[in-house]
Amino acid sequence: MNNSGKSRARESEHRSLDINLNLNVRSLDESATLAINEESGKLTREGRRIYRLGLGQSPFPVPEPVVAALREHAHEKDYLPVKGLPELRKAVADYHSRAEGIDCRPSDILIGPGSKELMFIVQLTYYGDLVIPTPSWVSYAPQAHIIGRNISWVPTRAENDWRLTPEELDRICSDDPTRPRIIILNYPSNPTGDSYTDEELRELAYVARKYRVVLLSDEIYGELHHSGEHTSIARYYPEGTIISAGLSKWAGAGGWRLGTFAFPPSLGWLRDAMAVVASETYTSTSAPIQFAAIPAFEGGPEIEAYLAGSRAVLRALGQHIHRQLVAAGLAVTTPSGGFYLFPDFHAHKDRLAARGIRDSQALCRKLLDEAGVAVLPGEAFGRPPEELTCRLAYVNFDGSAALAAARTLPSGTTPDEAFLRQYCGPTLEAIDEMSNWLARQAS
Ligand code: GLU
Repeated sequence: MNNSGKSRARESEHRSLDINLNLNVRSLDESATLAINEESGKLTREGRRIYRLGLGQSPFPVPEPVVAALREHAHEKDYLPVKGLPELRKAVADYHSRAEGIDCRPSDILIGPGSKELMFIVQLTYYGDLVIPTPSWVSYAPQAHIIGRNISWVPTRAENDWRLTPEELDRICSDDPTRPRIIILNYPSNPTGDSYTDEELRELAYVARKYRVVLLSDEIYGELHHSGEHTSIARYYPEGTIISAGLSKWAGAGGWRLGTFAFPPSLGWLRDAMAVVASETYTSTSAPIQFAAIPAFEGGPEIEAYLAGSRAVLRALGQHIHRQLVAAGLAVTTPSGGFYLFPDFHAHKDRLAARGIRDSQALCRKLLDEAGVAVLPGEAFGRPPEELTCRLAYVNFDGSAALAAARTLPSGTTPDEAFLRQYCGPTLEAIDEMSNWLARQAS
């Protein structure tokens, strides 16, 4: 066969492989959070000034005792038990018992390579619909889609700070009350930065219990509640709640990939079935990372000081940006945890439409092209395409310098604007760029 004959043969081979792509996957793109990160990186390498508010990655360094433990255990090379290193399972169980006053045992814990993977496996293992509020994190629905589960989006309203109400949850569940369902509740929220009061959690727990649903409580930002006042819904619906947590957000270790699920004993069968899937897929979580995670979950004064500093910076920065966005005429929920805000540009709808911006995708494209600000469209979080919302992650600053400076402030002091200008400058500039861009749309 000559060269052109060979390349034709190869092409047709590719075509026939192509059409065998699983239909559930064929309609999906790379996850929005990772895609924006890669696009921002590419534009930056090409020499453009890009403000990277796209990917939600902690700006802070991994706490020193945790890094020291990783160094000490770098030689650990064996496969570990599929459910996790026993000492780590104990540290995580003690952590939840301490933090939530619940009775959590080491055998209730499953360790995985990131909570995202555990969420996928729980949906694969449990046969039921996925119930998620809109807006919610970009990957819950695609995971359900890949597996072929039904998705029920529960509407929420900006006036309620996008919180899921017990009435709405009841309305979804009462339609076919015995249907198996997994409800995902995420607080502090990605994308809104908001959280629930204890009373609201109690009311949601009441509905969850009434319909005996599996409640997957995604508390990955729990330790980043800006006032350190996070409460788990597991307190109010212990028998049906799985707490999802991990090192990625509060310990600045997203790239380490370590997630944890805490199950109630009544869902032990689900934990065991997930371990079967884990044993046939990822085998076990990285050994050195599991050893290193132990001091993170054991806590202590060094970890507490790290958390107090992180919270102080995020609280001051979140409040500052919130004020700036409101001043620019955007509707946005006041943040109480994590590092996200979810502004709505609807007050500028007509002016933006005159510039051809009629949906959240176009809004984010223009913000990137014309202001150099990378954010994610509300549509990626399950909002209607034409709603002019976006998520920004206020994380593009030197977290090591900011944290070191915050730790020198007297305890309880809130970093002021001069502090933020000095240590979180690129984030403040990004918000200025956004506001200036918006002002230019008027002219
Ligand atoms: N959770 C982060 C975000 O929403 C990033 C990690 C991910 O999406 O996998 O941006």
